[in-house]
Amino acid sequence: MASEFVSSLMKKLTVKQKASLCSGWDFWRTQRLPINNVPYIMMTDGPHGLRKQDSEEGRRGSGDSREATCFPPAATTANSFNEELMEAIGRAIGEEAIDQDVSIVLGPAINIKRSPLCGRNFEYVSEDPLLAGKMGAAWVRGVQSMGIGTSVKHFACNSQEKYRLINDSIVDERALREIYLSAFETVIKEAKPWTVMCAYNRVNGKYCCENRKLLTDILRDEWGFDGVVMSDWGATDDRLDSLAAGLELEMPSSVGERDRQIVEAVESGKLPKALLDRAAERMLTLIEKGMNKPSPTSSPYLNHQGLARQAFEESCVLLKNDGLLPVQPRQSIAVLGAMAKQTRFQGGGSSHIHPTNVCDAFSGFSVDSENFVYQPGYSLEKDEVDEKLLKEAVDAAKDKDVVIIFAGLPDSYESEGYDRKHMHLPQSHTRLIEEVVRRNSNVCVVLYAGSPIEMPWAAHVKSILMAYLPGQEGAGAIADILYGKVIPSGKLAETFPMKLSDTPAYLNFGDERQTLYCESVYVGYRYYDAAKLPVLFPFGHGLSYAKFSYGDIQLSSTDIMEGDELTVTLDVTNISDYDAKEIVQVYVAPPPSRIYKPVRQLVGFKKVFIQRGATRTVEIKLNKRAFAYYNAQIKDWHVETGTYTIEVGASSRDIRGSRTVNVTTKMDQVVAPDYQEKAPQYYHLDSSTKVFEKKQFEAVYGQEILEEKPPKKGEFHLNTSVEDLRRGNFIAKLYYHITMLLIKWRNRKETQEHLRVINIAMTKEMPLRTLASFSMGKVTIEQMEAWILIFNNHIFKGLWRMRKARKRKKDLNFI
Ligand code: BGC
Repeated sequence: MASEFVSSLMKKLTVKQKASLCSGWDFWRTQRLPINNVPYIMMTDGPHGLRKQDSEEGRRGSGDSREATCFPPAATTANSFNEELMEAIGRAIGEEAIDQDVSIVLGPAINIKRSPLCGRNFEYVSEDPLLAGKMGAAWVRGVQSMGIGTSVKHFACNSQEKYRLINDSIVDERALREIYLSAFETVIKEAKPWTVMCAYNRVNGKYCCENRKLLTDILRDEWGFDGVVMSDWGATDDRLDSLAAGLELEMPSSVGERDRQIVEAVESGKLPKALLDRAAERMLTLIEKGMNKPSPTSSPYLNHQGLARQAFEESCVLLKNDGLLPVQPRQSIAVLGAMAKQTRFQGGGSSHIHPTNVCDAFSGFSVDSENFVYQPGYSLEKDEVDEKLLKEAVDAAKDKDVVIIFAGLPDSYESEGYDRKHMHLPQSHTRLIEEVVRRNSNVCVVLYAGSPIEMPWAAHVKSILMAYLPGQEGAGAIADILYGKVIPSGKLAETFPMKLSDTPAYLNFGDERQTLYCESVYVGYRYYDAAKLPVLFPFGHGLSYAKFSYGDIQLSSTDIMEGDELTVTLDVTNISDYDAKEIVQVYVAPPPSRIYKPVRQLVGFKKVFIQRGATRTVEIKLNKRAFAYYNAQIKDWHVETGTYTIEVGASSRDIRGSRTVNVTTKMDQVVAPDYQEKAPQYYHLDSSTKVFEKKQFEAVYGQEILEEKPPKKGEFHLNTSVEDLRRGNFIAKLYYHITMLLIKWRNRKETQEHLRVINIAMTKEMPLRTLASFSMGKVTIEQMEAWILIFNNHIFKGLWRMRKARKRKKDLNFI
């Protein structure tokens, strides 16, 4: 039901005004209307802090942002497995949004980590949809409890950066539902975000922005979403199709061009007016919510520093500890690695925060003691080994009781806008570790990285602390963790494979036009477990200085009907001298089936604090989904009758106990699809399964997949990339070079290196329609269409269209 404000406005607004609500006012704000003083509402990134670009330049999407607390990004906080913590972070970000007059924070980002190479993994939560969904929902609840909106993103299947504005993610229906949509479903159903941001890419041939199945059939009709769908920035392909498919808001501004398109389509009867009305009404409802946000009280920032630090303390993961940690106060110590002083505390791109403070790890140590020595060991300016720095570091470490080496991925190694090429540390970091362990084996490596790396040296060091990206305060806690004043309690939200070539998407990742998700549901541990592959560190793994013993598992019943709730209960005892937290994980292993299934899947988890010597009863409730798979034939979730094993573990490969439960289906007549003949590879994964055959993938996908080639010379269109123009006629080539020169020139003003690199990568891969829309009116889409005629050698037709487009551009400034 529309509110009084909305329904009275709907009666007054003209078609033009309604259409104008369907795109942004500028880079960050919704349209404002002269009528009844409808204001614009402001949105900013997200997700681990605010990035409000306030200046004139900021309104066009560049320049620095206002200071805000930089919490650790999702790759870090995911390891906390702590929903209350996520809610608290959400509340804190909501408070800062109130202070900065922001109505919607663009997050959480919950895309599934399909490959460790995705440049943006540091922003994403997990390879597991349950964890990604639960943590995302908690964050949304936190922000929205403050009266501020959120935008869960990027809906959907945006699991790579390469050609993300064009790429087509080809995913079979079951993997789509079980892996890629499931986290979104949880967030929508459990936390009701105000908005959803649709992704740039295509899913199974259709751009997300005009994918009716995603935006309406699933999101609204199945899941009951009643907010606004907005585009990712520059993601809108065909505006009329997208409006019809369920995209209310195009971001950023289309400077009136797309609004005019809508008006013309309504006036000519091409677009039903009811569709526009529906979108306008949803927009007004959102604007009303945004207008009513609370007023700021006192400045919130100082108060949030403690929470930012706590978030890190709960999230960093002690991967290995052969007794070296905690360091004893009297032990002599060498701290090596320039990253000890220059923390990489966040990732690059649209989530980059201007922090209110930055802590490093170095200042946490008693640096004045004669037992302490520091050497940088490598230069952060280059990847290559600096022999002098290396030697000084190795010499300093030789006779120390404990050596702490800080290493990690520099900014340029992982970022929004491009994917990683490999999983290695910089050469100079690896050499430092290798040379030091040759002379002193008491080494602990502390790693800063937003995603897994290969560690050929892992067996030779005694301890590894994965600090991920600690946010502005986290590094300040590292010394306390190493000395045992803080007990680590994070567990991995993703698997660390031995090497890149072990990863399931190894051969099908990062393609330009089409990415075949051939591994189907075998993402992350679902693959490694089915293929029985050794991994470096499994999903859910993380050590503590404390030790926990797991008691017998009790089930509330051993026979249930599909849909009955099943409660798993067990006692966990802290058998150490430290008060500490433990993350208990529940997996379900299915009975044999006609359809291929992962060996086990996470179905529940709980993080509990247990004092030394104490016992806590942990209770985890399972619902129907814990036993169901998505049946693409009946287009519904289906539970097969059978005996399921409930496994309780400290990680996916440290199962401490199990019990079985008989589950009876309510859909007797339904049988699971059987792919054993046409797609046997999915039933017999082993460590040599590197190649998923396309033919077999097509069998589960349900149709032949035609290869998509880049457009040929003379066949360019609005979705041709800027880079494609290099293959065009002389004018197309020139256009390409001039565009790239202009970007470089514009980059002069960009103070941050990572944004300069992203701008170049993103522009090259940008479709021409987005190049036009990002020019904020300098080149309209109609002008771009004229250019495309010229690139396709229709010179006169192009010039004629250009003249017309220029004329139409004059009356754009539209409402
Ligand atoms: C990113 C979004 C972000 C938006 C606005 C896009 O390029 O994909 O995550 O919210 O820009 O900065």
